[in-house]
Amino acid sequence: MEMNHSRIKETNRKKIIKLLLEKNEITKLDISRKLDISITTVSTNITELKNDGIVEDVGSLESTGGRKAIAIKLNENCRYSIGVALTPKHIKISLVNLKKNIIENIRIRHKNDGIENIIVLLSENIEMIINKYNLTSENLLGLGISLQGTVDFKTGRVKYCYLLGIKDFGLKEKFEYLNVPIYVDNEANLSAYYEFLNRKDELKNLLYISITDGLGLGIIINGKIYRGDNNSSGEMGHIKITINGKKCKCGARGCLEAYTSMNSLIENYNEVSCCKVSDIDEFEEKYIQKDEIAEKTLNKYLKILGLGISNLIMILDPNTIMLGGDINNLLKDKIDMLIKYIYKDNLFTDENSCAINVASFKESYLLGAAMMPIEEFLEIK
Ligand SMILES: [Zn+2]
Repeated sequence: MEMNHSRIKETNRKKIIKLLLEKNEITKLDISRKLDISITTVSTNITELKNDGIVEDVGSLESTGGRKAIAIKLNENCRYSIGVALTPKHIKISLVNLKKNIIENIRIRHKNDGIENIIVLLSENIEMIINKYNLTSENLLGLGISLQGTVDFKTGRVKYCYLLGIKDFGLKEKFEYLNVPIYVDNEANLSAYYEFLNRKDELKNLLYISITDGLGLGIIINGKIYRGDNNSSGEMGHIKITINGKKCKCGARGCLEAYTSMNSLIENYNEVSCCKVSDIDEFEEKYIQKDEIAEKTLNKYLKILGLGISNLIMILDPNTIMLGGDINNLLKDKIDMLIKYIYKDNLFTDENSCAINVASFKESYLLGAAMMPIEEFLEIK
């Protein structure tokens, strides 16, 4: 009985917070009507939420009867979440508030000289944010960490991340001293999660292909990240597309990633062009300047990427695929060509059966990591 009562109480509290997140200002009476909770219960909850610093009064609103009713609003900076992304060159950190607004963005270049060194650098910067914003285990909802590897989500152990040289490493435990929930997940999963949260009213399923230093796939089925039985689902980058093909960073040959990562695009260009480019921005520059080799390289690249996506569609018959990561601008420009390649020689589906979109934000994984603690906080269990 006691358990049941406290669960109902918790559910009401979360329903009220969720409603307050949607509305800017609202009266107790409107909360009561919208959520079908008695005004007494609403009042009790609001008093508690005020005591916890989660809501505050905002003067008065004209109510329909002409009398003035006190409106309340969410204090959006009452809770925070930290998202972290570990990539082969950078540590990226975002501090977001309960309304999912970005409060601070930090990007630090690292030498990729071992995970322990990266952790030291990350911890120093987290410490800096904690001090700057007076974060405590009360107002910090948690820390989400994204990386390009295979992660056991439950234990927070990284099984394998060759881009950072990690094998069987307990990443979560390194941050348990913060005394807040820690979530470690794969980059493509978190990107898929973030894009799904933005469209959850219209979609049930979503596939997100993440093109960065590698190529990953995040799979959302019925609103949940599908991880597979061994946390290894979505290793689309290591599907073999040819026998004895190009060597992949995973050690095998002929992997899709060896032909479709951002790096492979740059490498392919540099192999044939006399003037080399050192990063994707420089490649983009060449493409904008109508450099013929850039155009040809991109065309060849899209053909292989299209083949990979076509294979994915054959297996899962999705209704929405999002592409995102470091080459978004190029993909946006060439989306029609890519779609043509995807549906070439495909008898079973066509472009009307699956929408292929390019994400508007390049670092969805970073915000996905920050969303994990917030969604967990808001989730009605
Ligand atoms: Zn591979």
